[in-house]
Amino acid sequence: MIRVICIGTLLALAACGRPQNAGSVEATTEVERPEWRLVIHGGAGVILRENLNAEQEAAYVEALETALDAGADILRNGGSAVDAVQAAVIPMENDPLFNAGVGAVYTAAYEHELDASIMDGRDRNAGSVAGVKRVKNPVLAARAVMDQSEHVMFAGQGADDFAQAAGLEMVDNSHFNTERRLRSLESVLERQKQRTSAEKAGTVGAIAIDVNGNVAATTTTGGMTAKAQGRIGDAPLIGAATYAQNGVCAVSATGHGEYFIRVGVAKTICARAELAGDAIGDAAQEALDQVAALGGDGGVIVMDGNGHYEYVFNSPGMYRGMIDPERRETAIFEAE
Ligand code: ASP
Repeated sequence: MIRVICIGTLLALAACGRPQNAGSVEATTEVERPEWRLVIHGGAGVILRENLNAEQEAAYVEALETALDAGADILRNGGSAVDAVQAAVIPMENDPLFNAGVGAVYTAAYEHELDASIMDGRDRNAGSVAGVKRVKNPVLAARAVMDQSEHVMFAGQGADDFAQAAGLEMVDNSHFNTERRLRSLESVLERQKQRTSAEKAGTVGAIAIDVNGNVAATTTTGGMTAKAQGRIGDAPLIGAATYAQNGVCAVSATGHGEYFIRVGVAKTICARAELAGDAIGDAAQEALDQVAALGGDGGVIVMDGNGHYEYVFNSPGMYRGMIDPERRETAIFEAE
Protein backbone atom coordinates (compact mmCIF):
# COMPACT_ATOMS: atom_id res chain seq x y z
CA MET A 1 0.00 0.00 0.00
CA ILE A 2 1.41 3.37 -1.01
CA ARG A 3 0.62 6.52 0.93
CA VAL A 4 1.69 10.06 0.45
CA ILE A 5 0.69 12.41 3.23
CA CYS A 6 0.80 16.12 2.52
CA ILE A 7 -0.41 19.11 4.47
CA GLY A 8 -0.59 22.76 3.77
CA THR A 9 2.62 24.10 5.18
CA LEU A 10 6.06 24.22 3.62
CA LEU A 11 7.75 22.08 6.26
CA ALA A 12 5.74 19.00 5.44
CA LEU A 13 5.86 19.38 1.71
CA ALA A 14 9.19 17.69 1.15
CA ALA A 15 7.42 14.33 1.25
CA CYS A 16 4.64 15.29 -1.13
CA GLY A 17 4.53 13.45 -4.43
CA ARG A 18 7.05 10.93 -3.13
CA PRO A 19 5.22 7.79 -2.10
CA GLN A 20 6.71 5.57 0.54
CA ASN A 21 5.53 2.47 2.28
CA ALA A 22 2.39 2.64 4.37
CA GLY A 23 2.85 4.41 7.64
CA SER A 24 6.37 5.54 6.87
CA VAL A 25 5.47 9.17 6.21
CA GLU A 26 4.25 11.14 9.17
CA ALA A 27 2.69 14.58 9.13
CA THR A 28 5.21 16.91 10.72
CA THR A 29 3.27 20.11 11.26
CA GLU A 30 -0.16 21.07 12.43
CA VAL A 31 -2.85 20.96 9.80
CA GLU A 32 -3.68 24.33 8.30
CA ARG A 33 -6.19 24.99 5.62
CA PRO A 34 -4.62 26.08 2.33
CA GLU A 35 -6.20 29.11 0.70
CA TRP A 36 -7.32 26.69 -2.02
CA ARG A 37 -6.05 23.38 -3.35
CA LEU A 38 -6.68 20.99 -6.24
CA VAL A 39 -5.59 17.33 -6.41
CA ILE A 40 -5.96 15.19 -9.54
CA HIS A 41 -5.38 11.63 -10.71
CA GLY A 42 -5.16 10.04 -14.12
CA GLY A 43 -5.60 6.44 -13.05
CA ALA A 44 -3.71 3.86 -11.01
CA GLY A 45 -2.28 0.54 -12.15
CA VAL A 46 0.96 -1.18 -13.09
CA ILE A 47 2.77 1.93 -14.27
CA LEU A 48 6.46 1.08 -14.36
CA ARG A 49 9.32 3.36 -15.32
CA GLU A 50 10.67 0.72 -17.71
CA ASN A 51 7.38 0.73 -19.64
CA LEU A 52 7.29 4.50 -20.26
CA ASN A 53 9.95 6.14 -22.40
CA ALA A 54 11.09 9.69 -21.66
CA GLU A 55 8.80 11.13 -24.31
CA GLN A 56 5.73 9.32 -22.97
CA GLU A 57 6.54 10.30 -19.41
CA ALA A 58 6.93 13.95 -20.46
CA ALA A 59 3.58 13.79 -22.26
CA TYR A 60 1.83 12.51 -19.14
CA VAL A 61 3.46 15.14 -16.94
CA GLU A 62 2.45 17.87 -19.40
CA ALA A 63 -1.13 16.58 -19.47
CA LEU A 64 -1.28 16.53 -15.66
CA GLU A 65 0.12 20.08 -15.53
CA THR A 66 -2.50 21.24 -18.05
CA ALA A 67 -5.27 19.78 -15.91
CA LEU A 68 -3.86 21.38 -12.75
CA ASP A 69 -3.68 24.77 -14.47
CA ALA A 70 -7.25 24.50 -15.74
CA GLY A 71 -8.60 23.90 -12.24
CA ALA A 72 -6.25 26.33 -10.52
CA ASP A 73 -7.37 29.18 -12.78
CA ILE A 74 -10.83 28.82 -11.29
CA LEU A 75 -9.69 28.52 -7.67
CA ARG A 76 -7.22 31.40 -7.66
CA ASN A 77 -9.95 33.67 -9.00
CA GLY A 78 -12.25 32.76 -6.14
CA GLY A 79 -14.27 30.21 -8.12
CA SER A 80 -15.95 27.20 -6.58
CA ALA A 81 -14.43 23.80 -5.91
CA VAL A 82 -17.08 22.16 -8.06
CA ASP A 83 -16.24 24.36 -11.05
CA ALA A 84 -12.54 23.68 -10.49
CA VAL A 85 -12.78 19.88 -10.44
CA GLN A 86 -14.91 19.99 -13.57
CA ALA A 87 -12.42 22.30 -15.33
CA ALA A 88 -9.50 20.08 -14.32
CA VAL A 89 -10.88 16.87 -15.83
CA ILE A 90 -12.10 18.33 -19.14
CA PRO A 91 -8.59 18.52 -20.66
CA MET A 92 -8.00 14.94 -19.52
CA GLU A 93 -11.27 13.81 -21.13
CA ASN A 94 -10.06 15.47 -24.34
CA ASP A 95 -6.59 13.91 -24.13
CA PRO A 96 -6.09 10.44 -25.69
CA LEU A 97 -3.55 9.57 -22.97
CA PHE A 98 -6.32 8.94 -20.47
CA ASN A 99 -9.17 6.46 -20.26
CA ALA A 100 -11.90 9.11 -20.28
CA GLY A 101 -13.52 10.81 -23.25
CA VAL A 102 -11.14 10.52 -26.24
CA GLY A 103 -8.88 7.57 -25.46
CA ALA A 104 -11.56 5.71 -23.51
CA VAL A 105 -11.23 1.93 -23.55
CA TYR A 106 -13.47 -0.21 -25.77
CA THR A 107 -16.25 -2.50 -24.66
CA ALA A 108 -16.25 -6.11 -25.88
CA ALA A 109 -18.62 -4.83 -28.61
CA TYR A 110 -15.97 -2.39 -29.96
CA GLU A 111 -17.77 0.67 -28.63
CA HIS A 112 -17.21 3.19 -25.86
CA GLU A 113 -19.58 3.49 -22.91
CA LEU A 114 -18.54 6.31 -20.61
CA ASP A 115 -19.27 6.87 -16.91
CA ALA A 116 -18.87 10.11 -14.91
CA SER A 117 -19.97 11.69 -11.64
CA ILE A 118 -19.56 14.97 -9.78
CA MET A 119 -20.43 16.01 -6.23
CA ASP A 120 -20.57 19.37 -4.47
CA GLY A 121 -19.61 19.21 -0.80
CA ARG A 122 -21.66 22.30 0.09
CA ASP A 123 -25.00 20.53 -0.03
CA ARG A 124 -24.00 17.05 -1.19
CA ASN A 125 -25.76 17.70 -4.43
CA ALA A 126 -24.55 15.26 -7.04
CA GLY A 127 -24.97 14.23 -10.66
CA SER A 128 -23.85 11.28 -12.72
CA VAL A 129 -24.18 9.56 -16.06
CA ALA A 130 -23.52 5.91 -16.86
CA GLY A 131 -22.96 4.21 -20.18
CA VAL A 132 -23.13 7.35 -22.30
CA LYS A 133 -21.98 6.99 -25.90
CA ARG A 134 -22.40 10.38 -27.54
CA VAL A 135 -21.78 13.27 -25.17
CA LYS A 136 -18.31 14.65 -25.85
CA ASN A 137 -17.51 15.45 -22.22
CA PRO A 138 -19.29 13.12 -19.80
CA VAL A 139 -18.34 15.29 -16.81
CA LEU A 140 -20.45 18.08 -18.28
CA ALA A 141 -23.37 15.69 -18.58
CA ALA A 142 -22.97 14.70 -14.92
CA ARG A 143 -22.87 18.38 -13.99
CA ALA A 144 -26.00 19.06 -16.03
CA VAL A 145 -27.80 16.23 -14.22
CA MET A 146 -26.81 17.83 -10.91
CA ASP A 147 -27.76 21.37 -11.89
CA GLN A 148 -30.66 20.91 -14.27
CA SER A 149 -32.61 17.86 -13.13
CA GLU A 150 -34.37 16.68 -10.04
CA HIS A 151 -32.39 13.41 -10.28
CA VAL A 152 -28.89 12.25 -9.43
CA MET A 153 -28.17 9.62 -12.05
CA PHE A 154 -29.06 8.97 -15.68
CA ALA A 155 -28.01 5.93 -17.71
CA GLY A 156 -27.68 4.93 -21.36
CA GLN A 157 -29.76 6.50 -24.10
CA GLY A 158 -31.70 8.62 -21.61
CA ALA A 159 -28.47 10.10 -20.31
CA ASP A 160 -27.25 10.99 -23.81
CA ASP A 161 -30.65 12.45 -24.66
CA PHE A 162 -30.60 14.49 -21.46
CA ALA A 163 -27.12 15.82 -22.30
CA GLN A 164 -28.24 16.76 -25.80
CA ALA A 165 -31.34 18.53 -24.48
CA ALA A 166 -29.07 20.42 -22.05
CA GLY A 167 -27.22 21.79 -25.07
CA LEU A 168 -24.00 19.85 -24.62
CA GLU A 169 -21.74 19.02 -27.55
CA MET A 170 -22.58 15.59 -28.98
CA VAL A 171 -20.27 13.41 -31.09
CA ASP A 172 -20.31 10.09 -32.87
CA ASN A 173 -19.05 7.25 -30.68
CA SER A 174 -16.03 6.92 -33.01
CA HIS A 175 -14.85 10.31 -31.72
CA PHE A 176 -13.44 8.43 -28.71
CA ASN A 177 -11.48 5.88 -30.81
CA THR A 178 -7.73 5.48 -30.50
CA GLU A 179 -5.45 2.85 -32.05
CA ARG A 180 -3.79 2.16 -28.73
CA ARG A 181 -7.05 1.24 -26.98
CA LEU A 182 -8.14 -0.85 -29.96
CA ARG A 183 -4.92 -2.87 -29.70
CA SER A 184 -5.57 -3.30 -25.96
CA LEU A 185 -9.07 -4.56 -26.65
CA GLU A 186 -7.81 -7.07 -29.17
CA SER A 187 -5.13 -8.40 -26.88
CA VAL A 188 -7.54 -8.63 -23.92
CA LEU A 189 -10.04 -10.53 -26.10
CA GLU A 190 -7.27 -12.89 -27.25
CA ARG A 191 -6.47 -13.58 -23.61
CA GLN A 192 -10.13 -14.40 -22.83
CA LYS A 193 -10.56 -11.08 -21.04
CA GLN A 194 -7.54 -11.53 -18.76
CA ARG A 195 -6.61 -7.87 -18.29
CA THR A 196 -3.19 -6.75 -17.20
CA SER A 197 -3.33 -4.01 -14.62
CA ALA A 198 -1.86 -1.60 -17.19
CA GLU A 199 -4.95 -2.21 -19.30
CA LYS A 200 -7.17 -1.02 -16.47
CA ALA A 201 -5.48 2.35 -15.81
CA GLY A 202 -6.42 5.80 -17.02
CA THR A 203 -9.62 6.87 -15.29
CA VAL A 204 -9.36 10.52 -14.29
CA GLY A 205 -10.57 12.43 -11.26
CA ALA A 206 -10.17 15.59 -9.23
CA ILE A 207 -10.89 16.88 -5.73
CA ALA A 208 -10.62 20.47 -4.52
CA ILE A 209 -11.15 22.92 -1.70
CA ASP A 210 -11.92 26.52 -2.61
CA VAL A 211 -11.32 29.86 -0.86
CA ASN A 212 -14.60 29.46 1.01
CA GLY A 213 -13.64 26.04 2.35
CA ASN A 214 -16.08 24.21 0.09
CA VAL A 215 -15.00 20.84 -1.29
CA ALA A 216 -15.98 18.90 -4.43
CA ALA A 217 -15.06 15.73 -6.28
CA THR A 218 -15.42 14.24 -9.75
CA THR A 219 -14.48 10.98 -11.50
CA THR A 220 -14.78 10.19 -15.23
CA THR A 221 -13.82 7.05 -17.17
CA GLY A 222 -14.28 4.72 -20.10
CA GLY A 223 -14.39 1.85 -17.62
CA MET A 224 -12.52 -1.40 -18.20
CA THR A 225 -11.21 -2.78 -21.49
CA ALA A 226 -13.52 -5.41 -23.01
CA LYS A 227 -16.22 -4.79 -20.43
CA ALA A 228 -19.58 -6.30 -21.30
CA GLN A 229 -22.11 -4.02 -22.96
CA GLY A 230 -24.10 -2.24 -20.28
CA ARG A 231 -21.57 -2.85 -17.51
CA ILE A 232 -21.47 0.08 -15.10
CA GLY A 233 -18.37 0.65 -12.99
CA ASP A 234 -17.80 2.57 -9.80
CA ALA A 235 -17.02 5.93 -11.42
CA PRO A 236 -20.63 7.12 -11.78
CA LEU A 237 -21.71 5.79 -8.39
CA ILE A 238 -21.84 8.40 -5.66
CA GLY A 239 -20.28 6.75 -2.63
CA ALA A 240 -18.21 4.25 -4.64
CA ALA A 241 -15.72 6.35 -6.65
CA THR A 242 -16.85 9.88 -5.78
CA TYR A 243 -17.89 11.68 -2.61
CA ALA A 244 -17.65 15.21 -1.20
CA GLN A 245 -18.94 16.64 2.06
CA ASN A 246 -17.90 19.99 3.46
CA GLY A 247 -15.92 19.75 6.67
CA VAL A 248 -15.36 16.03 6.14
CA CYS A 249 -13.91 14.85 2.84
CA ALA A 250 -13.50 14.85 -0.90
CA VAL A 251 -12.65 11.56 -2.64
CA SER A 252 -12.08 10.34 -6.20
CA ALA A 253 -11.18 6.71 -6.86
CA THR A 254 -9.72 4.64 -9.65
CA GLY A 255 -9.26 0.90 -9.87
CA HIS A 256 -11.14 -2.32 -10.43
CA GLY A 257 -14.64 -0.90 -10.17
CA GLU A 258 -16.47 -4.02 -9.08
CA TYR A 259 -14.46 -4.12 -5.86
CA PHE A 260 -14.84 -0.38 -5.26
CA ILE A 261 -18.60 -0.75 -5.57
CA ARG A 262 -18.70 -3.69 -3.19
CA VAL A 263 -16.73 -1.80 -0.55
CA GLY A 264 -18.44 1.53 -1.20
CA VAL A 265 -14.97 3.03 -1.08
CA ALA A 266 -15.63 6.77 -1.21
CA LYS A 267 -18.43 6.78 1.34
CA THR A 268 -16.57 4.35 3.61
CA ILE A 269 -13.63 6.77 3.68
CA CYS A 270 -15.86 9.74 4.45
CA ALA A 271 -17.87 7.86 7.08
CA ARG A 272 -14.71 6.74 8.85
CA ALA A 273 -13.44 10.33 8.84
CA GLU A 274 -16.75 11.74 10.05
CA LEU A 275 -17.97 9.09 12.47
CA ALA A 276 -14.83 7.33 13.68
CA GLY A 277 -12.67 10.46 13.57
CA ASP A 278 -10.04 8.75 11.40
CA ALA A 279 -7.42 10.89 9.69
CA ILE A 280 -8.41 10.96 6.02
CA GLY A 281 -5.39 8.94 4.90
CA ASP A 282 -6.01 6.25 7.52
CA ALA A 283 -9.63 6.06 6.42
CA ALA A 284 -8.51 5.70 2.79
CA GLN A 285 -6.02 3.01 3.64
CA GLU A 286 -8.63 1.07 5.57
CA ALA A 287 -11.04 1.18 2.61
CA LEU A 288 -8.33 0.13 0.14
CA ASP A 289 -7.31 -2.70 2.48
CA GLN A 290 -10.88 -3.93 2.19
CA VAL A 291 -10.64 -3.70 -1.62
CA ALA A 292 -7.36 -5.63 -1.55
CA ALA A 293 -8.79 -8.27 0.80
CA LEU A 294 -11.54 -8.93 -1.75
CA GLY A 295 -8.95 -9.19 -4.55
CA GLY A 296 -9.14 -5.70 -6.09
CA ASP A 297 -6.58 -3.01 -6.72
CA GLY A 298 -6.51 0.72 -7.40
CA GLY A 299 -6.17 4.00 -5.58
CA VAL A 300 -7.78 7.16 -4.32
CA ILE A 301 -7.04 10.82 -3.96
CA VAL A 302 -8.50 12.09 -0.69
CA MET A 303 -8.79 15.41 1.10
CA ASP A 304 -10.22 16.20 4.51
CA GLY A 305 -12.37 19.21 5.35
CA ASN A 306 -9.23 21.30 5.83
CA GLY A 307 -7.65 20.44 2.51
CA HIS A 308 -5.13 17.99 3.99
CA TYR A 309 -4.65 15.48 1.18
CA GLU A 310 -3.15 12.13 0.37
CA TYR A 311 -2.68 9.80 -2.54
CA VAL A 312 -3.27 6.21 -1.42
CA PHE A 313 -2.91 3.30 -3.85
CA ASN A 314 -2.18 -0.40 -3.77
CA SER A 315 -0.96 -0.65 -7.35
CA PRO A 316 2.56 0.17 -8.55
CA GLY A 317 1.91 3.65 -9.89
CA MET A 318 -0.71 6.36 -10.17
CA TYR A 319 -0.76 9.43 -12.40
CA ARG A 320 -1.28 12.23 -9.92
CA GLY A 321 -0.72 15.89 -9.09
CA MET A 322 -1.54 18.78 -6.76
CA ILE A 323 -1.55 22.54 -6.96
CA ASP A 324 -2.16 25.22 -4.32
CA PRO A 325 -1.02 28.86 -4.07
CA GLU A 326 2.40 27.83 -2.72
CA ARG A 327 3.32 24.72 -4.61
CA ARG A 328 2.63 22.27 -7.42
CA GLU A 329 3.67 18.67 -7.95
CA THR A 330 3.15 15.78 -10.33
CA ALA A 331 4.18 12.14 -9.98
CA ILE A 332 3.59 8.88 -11.80
CA PHE A 333 5.53 5.98 -10.38
CA GLU A 334 5.43 4.27 -7.03
CA ALA A 335 8.57 5.94 -5.71
CA GLU A 336 9.93 9.15 -7.21
N1 ASP B 1 -12.85 2.32 -11.91
C1 ASP B 1 -12.98 2.20 -13.33
C2 ASP B 1 -14.02 1.17 -13.62
O1 ASP B 1 -14.01 0.13 -13.02
C3 ASP B 1 -11.72 1.82 -14.02
C4 ASP B 1 -10.46 2.50 -13.53
O2 ASP B 1 -10.51 3.35 -12.66
O3 ASP B 1 -9.37 2.19 -14.06
O4 ASP B 1 -14.81 1.40 -14.49
